[in-house]
Parts: sequence; C-alpha cells; structure tokens
Amino acid sequence: MATYTVTGVRKEPSADRSHEHIEGVCTSTGTHYTRTQVVASIDAGNTWKTSADGYEATIEPIKYCPKPNCYATPYIKTKPDSTKKDNLENLDLC
Ligand SMILES: [Zn+2]
Repeated sequence: MATYTVTGVRKEPSADRSHEHIEGVCTSTGTHYTRTQVVASIDAGNTWKTSADGYEATIEPIKYCPKPNCYATPYIKTKPDSTKKDNLENLDLC
C-alpha cells in the first residue's frame, strides 16, 4: 500500500455556482488526481494525507460536498472546521 502526500487542491464551481468546491488534488510529485480517483485509492487501502506549512492531516472520503444543497459526490475532507492548512479546503490551489 502506498502513501500519497497532497500539497494542493484544484477547485471548481458547484453546479448552482453558489460556491467553489474541491475538484481534485495535486500530490508532492505534481500529479493531479480527481476526487473520484482519490476515494477509489483510499477504498483500495492506500493512505492519502496533506502536508503544507507544517500541518498534516489524513484525507477521508465523505459522500457529498458539505455545502448546503450540493450533491457533488464523492467528496473528501480532512479537518473541515480548521482555519489552518490541516483543512484540505485551505491548501494552495494547483
Ligand atoms: Zn459543493
């Protein structure tokens, strides 16, 4: 099993354009993966974690984007309430 280190996120507008949410991630090797690819890899037993500005967190799959009335699925999170870079949503864009 492999461990992937995520250093950036790519965002996209939601279907109703009310917010931007995560489309995918970029790893320390500069490779882009979609949310679906990340979740499939986690389900296969691999570990995905973030590492930025000294903060690390483990990525977990969730069913839907947490914003109201958004059904983007699957979705991924780390520490959604954190204002630091252990929150996947706060990583630099890639
Ligand atoms: Zn959303």
